[in-house]
Amino acid sequence: MLEFQWMTEEHRAFAASVRRFLAEEYEPNRAAWTKAGQIPHAFWEKAGALGILGATIPEEFGGSGLPLSFDLVTFLEQARIGDMGWGTFVHSIVVHYVNAYGTREQKAGWLPKLASGEWVGAIAMTEPGTGSDLKAVRTTAKPDGNGYIINGSKTFITNGLTADFILVVAKTDPAAGTRGISLIGVETAEAAGFRRGRNLDKIGMKRQDTSELFFDEVRVPRTNLLGTEEGQGFYQLMKQLVWERLLISYCAIGNAQCALDDTLAYVRERKAFGQRIMDFQNTRFRLAEAKTEIEIFAAFLDRLTVELEEGRLTAERAAMAKYWGTEMLGRIADNCLQLHGGYGYMNEYRIAEIYADARVQRIFAGTNEIMREVIARSLDIE
Ligand SMILES: Cc1cc2nc3c(=O)[nH]c(=O)nc-3n(C[C@H](O)[C@H](O)[C@H](O)COP(=O)(O)OP(=O)(O)OC[C@H]3O[C@@H](n4cnc5c(N)ncnc54)[C@H](O)[C@@H]3O)c2cc1C
Repeated sequence: MLEFQWMTEEHRAFAASVRRFLAEEYEPNRAAWTKAGQIPHAFWEKAGALGILGATIPEEFGGSGLPLSFDLVTFLEQARIGDMGWGTFVHSIVVHYVNAYGTREQKAGWLPKLASGEWVGAIAMTEPGTGSDLKAVRTTAKPDGNGYIINGSKTFITNGLTADFILVVAKTDPAAGTRGISLIGVETAEAAGFRRGRNLDKIGMKRQDTSELFFDEVRVPRTNLLGTEEGQGFYQLMKQLVWERLLISYCAIGNAQCALDDTLAYVRERKAFGQRIMDFQNTRFRLAEAKTEIEIFAAFLDRLTVELEEGRLTAERAAMAKYWGTEMLGRIADNCLQLHGGYGYMNEYRIAEIYADARVQRIFAGTNEIMREVIARSLDIE
């Protein structure tokens, strides 16, 4: 059982309601939504009605005004059932951008819809030609009268098929390098020239739609620039990626715990050579290693979460958690699948899904090579 020192009675009560919601509304549909390759909009609205999507949104903008850690509780509960398929973490990332940098009018216009689930959020950074190197994005948002005209294409966008609101990373001044990057809100229902591509065929995260997006002379009002000043996008991204990397770390530890729990249940039942798989020394050692790594990582996350809430979590410490936690998940998922034998390779066993979903966690939200870069940079400061 995962426990964190920052958790209060309120966090536990919130966790219990998320757990109940997932058990009643998500789990029975898991197989059907895996087949469909996406989660229906109505499910988002149910989550919104329960206060799950707007937990950290201020009350005046339709949320519950709770601390950031309440969103972590949601990701942890989701991860504990071995799930990465519902794109809440991307939705939450969008909420946090608007909360942190939006004008009062933007918050009043956008946040209530994101809190209620009327809108599903997405963030579009990656392009066919660039992912890690964000400053090389080619999508442009050209100032034109009282608006912007967006041209370009994005790929690998989580919630891309279902999103009603997309924060698009674009160059408002292509000659200005990182200072020419801005974030622009696009309300998809109103955006003539906006087109969604395929639901991309992935090796894991099957319930989550991931797609290409195309912007062809898409006009948005100037008031859709996140904040008031052009050229702030790169700075905003660097600040918010800290949050994104911490939340991926919580997904990783929750998935790892789920893998361990499922494997324990399996090896206690399954027999070979007249004894339980649990009784082989190899099994006991592998599971002892997993338990130890999870406990140690939980202690690190405990510290980082306090730092987050006190506003002093640094980019390199969030990168350490994302890098180490997702590598840990990879090791644990692999070992746990092995202990299931051939059944671990069958999709009807949850460990198969955890294994496939774990792989991408080392790639998105900044690859683990980029994480090492971020950490290494902090070593070279006198
Ligand atoms: C399932 C899924 C969901 C995603 N969701 C989103 C989303 O919602 N929004 C979004 O914008 N993006 C999303 N992405 C994209 C993801 O963030 C990128 O794939 C990731 O940032 C890597 O970019 P890339 O694929 O272009 O790889 P590249 O940047 O081309 O990297 C290729 C390889 O080179 C390595 N490399 C690159 N630069 C360096 C360096 N400086 N030093 C050492 N090694 C380096 C990388 O680590 C990697 O191993 C998603 C991706 C997937 C697979």
